[in-house]
Amino acid sequence: MNKREFIKKSAFISLGGLAITSIPGRTIASGLVSDSKQTMEDAFKQPELGYAYNALEPHIDAMTMELHYSKHHAGYTTKFNAAVNEAGIAGMAIKDIFRNISKYPDAVKNNGGGYYNHNLFWKVMSPDGGGEPEGDLLKGIEKSFGSFSNFKDTFSKTAASTFGSGWAWLIHSDGKLIVTSTPNQDNPLMDIAPVKGTPLLLLDVWEHAYYLKYQNRRAEYIEAFWNVVNWDYISEKYLEVIG
Ligand code: MN
Repeated sequence: MNKREFIKKSAFISLGGLAITSIPGRTIASGLVSDSKQTMEDAFKQPELGYAYNALEPHIDAMTMELHYSKHHAGYTTKFNAAVNEAGIAGMAIKDIFRNISKYPDAVKNNGGGYYNHNLFWKVMSPDGGGEPEGDLLKGIEKSFGSFSNFKDTFSKTAASTFGSGWAWLIHSDGKLIVTSTPNQDNPLMDIAPVKGTPLLLLDVWEHAYYLKYQNRRAEYIEAFWNVVNWDYISEKYLEVIG
């Protein structure tokens, strides 16, 4: 019996000697199931989109948004919950999961990344987005990239040259802002990421994110994305990170 199971059993016993059945990796007492099984409360939930499917038109079309949110993202959410249950890590904070992602099955990495990355992706876009950042974020961008225009160019090129399916990122790391890219649903919070840091801005360059409207013209999708970037949200995140 490991320490965790011992504490659990002790807790049940102290509750008045409930009948305890022990099977490998799981303790069941009178219908209570151990915390290796997820409860409704600690399941990862798909956040609200926050705007209508057609709100980002004409830059990102309604059909793409609907499929992306209600099929792709919803699918990652369901499969991530199943994967953490299967791995016996239900209830663990997502950042702790990512920090040790190399220890867990690929299903946790792929679906956990798909869950988290899309949560953030919906937030960095807004029908009132576009334009340029201001204040501290603009200063930070200028310090790391020389100018906003240089940053935009670097980010767009990184998104365009990401091979196959993946994401482009603006992250904060060791006092600097960095543009990087990850394959599949990996992200810079994962221990396997070659460049790690706190995500601020990200762009989905999987074909499912743009193919209905832009087909193979990824560069046009990237250019359109700048019209919906929610700099207010990204500025708030930046201020939290730099404290
Ligand atoms: Mn996607």
